[in-house]
Amino acid sequence: MNLILLGPPGAGKGTQAKRLEDVYGIVQLSTGDMLRAEVDSGSELGKQAKGIMEAGDLVPDALIIDMISGRIDLDDCKQGFILDGFPRTVPQADALGSMLTDKGLQIDHVIAIEADSEAVVARVTGRYTCSECGSGYHDEFQKPVKDGICDKCGSSDFTRRADDNAETVRNRLSAYEEQTAPIIAYYGEKGILKTVDGMADIDVVTAKLKEVIG
Ligand code: AMP
Repeated sequence: MNLILLGPPGAGKGTQAKRLEDVYGIVQLSTGDMLRAEVDSGSELGKQAKGIMEAGDLVPDALIIDMISGRIDLDDCKQGFILDGFPRTVPQADALGSMLTDKGLQIDHVIAIEADSEAVVARVTGRYTCSECGSGYHDEFQKPVKDGICDKCGSSDFTRRADDNAETVRNRLSAYEEQTAPIIAYYGEKGILKTVDGMADIDVVTAKLKEVIG
């Protein structure tokens, strides 16, 4: 089964994708995570993407499409995948459609997680993750049980994203409204779009997603 999770930054796409990985045995493909790994490794792609990401703008379509096409070919995608943060523009959605047709694959569900802009800024600016296992936390809404210790793996090493500051988040939201929101209608017209309220409690959102996916 192949899924697309749509929604603004901070809607909970990453958090929910990690949960759905466990439920359905399929892999999360986050283009943001992939790009951050490229930046950390100092690759040519990483060098091109770094400044764009720090400003909260979108990396050029061609670079993203090549990256995701290669990733879908890897063995761990055979059972299915959850696209998180891709597609983000109509040309990316078009390219995904032809890429999947060429590979003999299809998208089973496109789910838009809806979230309020102001709430999203508060969510994103306080979030951080465990550097060891990637578990997500928040200064206000989701603290670890023991201060400074990851609930899942016990690590005390955490990281914050360079682009999770209020100014960049607002630019990421504008990029979302201008370039990404139109693909909601794009998939709506294809008849495969479902929506879920992303402002509900994390567990409630997961339950709704499972209901929608069936
Ligand atoms: P994310 O982790 O999904 O919030 O993505 C972080 C940043 O990576 C975005 O603000 C963009 O600069 C870049 N990025 C991630 N996915 C894409 C994409 N599909 N198209 C263009 N840029 C992307």
